[in-house]
Amino acid sequence: MEDCIFCKIANGEIPCGRIYENESFFSVPDKNQKVPGHSLIISKRHFKTTLDLPTTSGKELLDCIKKTAMKIIKKQKAHGFNLVNNNFPAAGQIVQHVHYHILPRKKGDKSPFVY
Ligand code: 5GP
Ligand code: ZN
Repeated sequence: MEDCIFCKIANGEIPCGRIYENESFFSVPDKNQKVPGHSLIISKRHFKTTLDLPTTSGKELLDCIKKTAMKIIKKQKAHGFNLVNNNFPAAGQIVQHVHYHILPRKKGDKSPFVY
């Protein structure tokens, strides 16, 4: 989709090192790291929100989430992670192309993420 920043990353127009990818999803570091290791799972095709994703893509989405989270946990020596998905601007979605944040957490850290 024209002028979609995540479509440009998906098709290589904007170079961005990938953490992991499968047929339908890939992951990259977020350019504004809320915590060290903050990463995004992004769909290769343009869909606006989770509600637009085909149900059949669930397996690949979970695969990308798990592989990415495990790599980041290892690299950051984290003890856990938050998985965040904002849908529609009212819920804080800024980029209108479906994506999932992975935020690594450490015991006793001062991160504001509580859900
Ligand atoms: P949202 O609020 O839509 O859930 O989050 C969008 C996220 O995309 C933000 O955390 C923002 O830092 C990230 N982001 C925006 N533009 C780019 C970009 O060009 N590259 C990367 N890697 N992340 C981006
Ligand atoms: Zn897009």
